[in-house]
Amino acid sequence: MKPSFLKTFLVLLPALLGVKTATADTAWRGVHVMAWGSAGGNEGLPVLKRAIDEVLQPLGVNVLVYEVGYNFAFDSHPDMRFDDMITQEAAHDLARFCRERGIRLIPQFNCLGHQSWVNGDMVFPLMTVHPEFEEVPDLPEEKRAKTLMNWCPLHPDVYPLIFDLIDEITEAFEADAFHVGMDEILTFASPKCPRCAGKDPAELMAHAVKELHGHIVGKRGMTMLMWGDRLLDKKALNMGDGWEASDKGTAGAIDRIPKDIIICDWHYSAQESYPSIDLFLEKGFRVWPASWKNETAGLHMVERAKADTTGKILGYLGTSWVVHPGHFAQALLGEGTRKS
Ligand SMILES: [Zn+2]
Repeated sequence: MKPSFLKTFLVLLPALLGVKTATADTAWRGVHVMAWGSAGGNEGLPVLKRAIDEVLQPLGVNVLVYEVGYNFAFDSHPDMRFDDMITQEAAHDLARFCRERGIRLIPQFNCLGHQSWVNGDMVFPLMTVHPEFEEVPDLPEEKRAKTLMNWCPLHPDVYPLIFDLIDEITEAFEADAFHVGMDEILTFASPKCPRCAGKDPAELMAHAVKELHGHIVGKRGMTMLMWGDRLLDKKALNMGDGWEASDKGTAGAIDRIPKDIIICDWHYSAQESYPSIDLFLEKGFRVWPASWKNETAGLHMVERAKADTTGKILGYLGTSWVVHPGHFAQALLGEGTRKS
């Protein structure tokens, strides 16, 4: 049985063939690949490359978002390396491989949020090496352990370190665009934080976005992408369950961040329409709708993209949320047993 995310790829990505946008002759037909924890080293790359040739390129995929995270052989901060790593050489090789096939390779590093995973069973190096960077939630210890960790948006020492990591990833992946993640961030303006207590969560979110934009776009001249959920008001839009839209007071950041950021607007449940897409367009952003397993959800996004007259809906981004690039590729090739 084919995994359900693959079914959406097979239907949705070819549906965008020939769709024109303002920024390119063809729509962005993207696939998001993740490498997390002890699952993101070089060993998954040969089968991923085979899946690109045998499955993804025939589907018309022309953008690959590769979520690198801490699974990279950082030289500037070796203590930020997480278990299995992709090396600089392997990253260069993947960049060359994608370029030769007309696929834009966009690396991703989760910024601000997702510095651990649920239930505390995976804490990423920034939080273990520099616990002082955490925005400590005002929660009892047992609940805190089950909350995703994020860094303090106002900590002055975190950004120089993160910029070093971003620069290394950018150079190795030969990237002209960078995805900073920034989804599902839960702790803002904690009373326990001497810098953030009492401050407006929207201002804190906007501060972090602008810090990253200043480096990625301002200094490095790249295009910046981010997930959109923290810029959406869950109540006002009546969207999602608190993950795909924010109930943390951060939505006001949408008016305080640069408009040249590409917003990856992800929603996984089927709706007739996605008001968030129109909201981001109204605010002046380019939008890249993203979905997962629900074919109807993705199809409605693709239909919206095809009907677009602004040229600012870039295409469609398919996610898989299979944590190992090799397993993801095996599923694409029909060689794996995973059904996620
Ligand atoms: Zn803080």
